[in-house]
Amino acid sequence: MQQRANALIRDGKTIAFVPTMGYLHEGHLTLLREAKKHGNHIVLSIFVNPTQFGANEDLDSYPRDHQRDLTLAEEAGADTVFLPEKETIYGGNYQTYVTLEKLPNHLCGISRPVHFRGVATVVSKLFNIVKPTVAMFGEKDFQQLAVIKQMTKDLNFDIQIIGVPTVREADGLAKSSRNVYLSPEQRKTALSLQSALKKAQDLVGKGEKNAQHLIKEAEDRILSFPETSIDYLTICDPETLEDVSEINGPTLFAMAVMVGKTRLIDNKVLMP
Ligand code: AMP
Repeated sequence: MQQRANALIRDGKTIAFVPTMGYLHEGHLTLLREAKKHGNHIVLSIFVNPTQFGANEDLDSYPRDHQRDLTLAEEAGADTVFLPEKETIYGGNYQTYVTLEKLPNHLCGISRPVHFRGVATVVSKLFNIVKPTVAMFGEKDFQQLAVIKQMTKDLNFDIQIIGVPTVREADGLAKSSRNVYLSPEQRKTALSLQSALKKAQDLVGKGEKNAQHLIKEAEDRILSFPETSIDYLTICDPETLEDVSEINGPTLFAMAVMVGKTRLIDNKVLMP
């Protein structure tokens, strides 16, 4: 991959990069199509990165289908698909990690303490391997996008990071590779996240400013659906991810909810 990247750059190509864990869906394909607007050689990576999974998480059961992914990637305009083995990325006496001091101490980082260290490490490595000019990340993983933007700035990666709005099913559920874990009943329950976020925006539109009121309303709504439990509901500054108590400008409402054994995340920037 590094040799190919060097050759492409020598030929004057602009590499646009979409890193994923595969089991592609319309969210990933939208990132690929967006990448086409920013580069003339599109690289997709598929790597289920072990270092971003905690000990009791779904690393082993994470859905995989490389054949289907390759077909979809080609249709969506990928020029190169990079499918490294675990040993290629973490071979030998591997011992170097990238950590951020503040952004991981919020939202998903609280219940997934090693997650963002794994993400920042693998994305740094992929940036050095793929050598892109521009890289695309989804706003669905809002904290991940914030971590990557901060890391890119802090470590002087000469790469433009582009955030892409969340792609949803027709009924509003954010597309996710993990949605395949849901039973038909749980699939209905999964709409609780979107329903709570919409309601919060309605209330904010009508003048509600109090974050605790909005969180309580969302909690009641989500828990009224079967098989739900809440990991977190947080209203925070979209840049620092620090909690806020009053909505006085664009403010992030981010949530993680367990539906049965499946952990779903969603978010919305609330606009007064
Ligand atoms: P993943 O394969 O889940 O690690 O996701 C790879 C990339 O696709 C990340 O930048 C995600 O934020 C992005 N992504 C995943 N789901 C969606 C979605 N529903 N809409 C937009 N981007 C998404």
